[in-house]
Amino acid sequence: MAGGQFHGEILDVSKNVKALQNGPYTDPHAWQNPENGLSYAQAIADRFSQIYPSKKETYKKNLETFEKNVHEIMAQNMNLLLPYKGQKALSTHEAFNYFTQAYGIHFVSFYGLNTDSELPPQKIKSLLELVKKEKVNVLFLENSKNDSALKNLLKNENLIIGQPLFSDALSNSTGPAKDYFELLKYNAKTVADALKKANSITQGQK
Ligand SMILES: [Zn+2]
Repeated sequence: MAGGQFHGEILDVSKNVKALQNGPYTDPHAWQNPENGLSYAQAIADRFSQIYPSKKETYKKNLETFEKNVHEIMAQNMNLLLPYKGQKALSTHEAFNYFTQAYGIHFVSFYGLNTDSELPPQKIKSLLELVKKEKVNVLFLENSKNDSALKNLLKNENLIIGQPLFSDALSNSTGPAKDYFELLKYNAKTVADALKKANSITQGQK
């Protein structure tokens, strides 16, 4: 909260979420699992119903609509990702452990590529080593100024670079993740598209 001037109540919307640990840290990206997003909404509706009991029915109805949408999207996403269950992708931001929990697609993390300066060759070398060690052929990068140079280099290695995923925040109102439902759909489709492309290359090599 900017300036620290907020004196209202702070509601911990994730209080009913079963948090995943990332080493010593609690992984904050819980909303990547739709069930957790639903849990946030339930916590909000509960608290609002306590504060404004006369509106209780409205909150309940809205929550039911939200729940229906989330479950529909989750079922669609599970269908979409089912053919790729158990496969791996690499991400430069460790933000998708809850996505793994929801859909069974595994993410290997590589740090330090979200830089504005030129990528040191050592960094690229260790990225390629990790890719080989983990047998990953799909990468999701955070946007960086080096993207085009890096992409060209990775293309020679027969690696698929997925479209950027939305990890911590929504897109702007004209972007592909303008609200939570769109974010859930977009990330699942983006992962499925990249794995599909990668699998078709691998099959072509056999
Ligand atoms: Zn993050």
